[in-house]
Amino acid sequence: MRGSLDKFNKLVDALGELPTIGKKSAIRLAYHMVMRDSFIGMKISHAIEEALGTIKRCSSCGGMSEDDLCHICCDESRDEYALCIVENAKDILLLEENGLFDGKYFVLESLDELSMSMLERIVKNGTSEIIFALTPSVSNDAVMLYIEDKLSDFSLNYSKIAQGVPTGVSLENIDLLSLTRALKNRVKV
Ligand SMILES: [Zn+2]
Repeated sequence: MRGSLDKFNKLVDALGELPTIGKKSAIRLAYHMVMRDSFIGMKISHAIEEALGTIKRCSSCGGMSEDDLCHICCDESRDEYALCIVENAKDILLLEENGLFDGKYFVLESLDELSMSMLERIVKNGTSEIIFALTPSVSNDAVMLYIEDKLSDFSLNYSKIAQGVPTGVSLENIDLLSLTRALKNRVKV
C-alpha cells in the first residue's frame, strides 16, 4: 500500500522477536536506527551478518568459536585438570567475563552418545576435577549422576556450584557475588 510503513513495521516485528525486547523497545530501537542514526543501524546490520556467518560451536567443548577450536580449548596456560560443565555456551561467556574460572569447559547440550563421547575425549586429556555449573534442580541432580556413571572408568573428583544459587534459577540470573561464592564454595557430589 502506498504511504504505508511496511518496512519499518517489519523491522519492529523482527526486533520484537528478540528476548527481553517488548513492542515499545522495538519501536524505539527501530526509530533510532532508521531516523536518528542510520550509521548505527548499518553498523549493527553488518555486525550481525558477520557474526552469523562466522561464529559456530567449538568442535571440542561446544562453546562459541570463530574457528574449529575455541580460544579456551587452545589456551595451554589454562588449568586442564579442572573441567566445568555448563548448560549453555552462553554460560561460558558469563563465567569468563567475570574471570571466575581458569580451567576448561564443556557445554552439555544433551545426554546423547555424541555429546558423551565429546565429553570423554576432553576428560582423557587429563581432567581430574569435574565441576557442575548447572541450574540447581532435581532433574540436574539426575544428570550429574548419569554423567558420573558414564565417566566411571576415569578417576575424577566431582563438585557442583554451591550456596547462593537458588533452585531453578539459571546462571545468567544470578548476581556476580553469589556466583563467585557458589564457585568458590563448590561442594563434593
Ligand atoms: Zn572449545
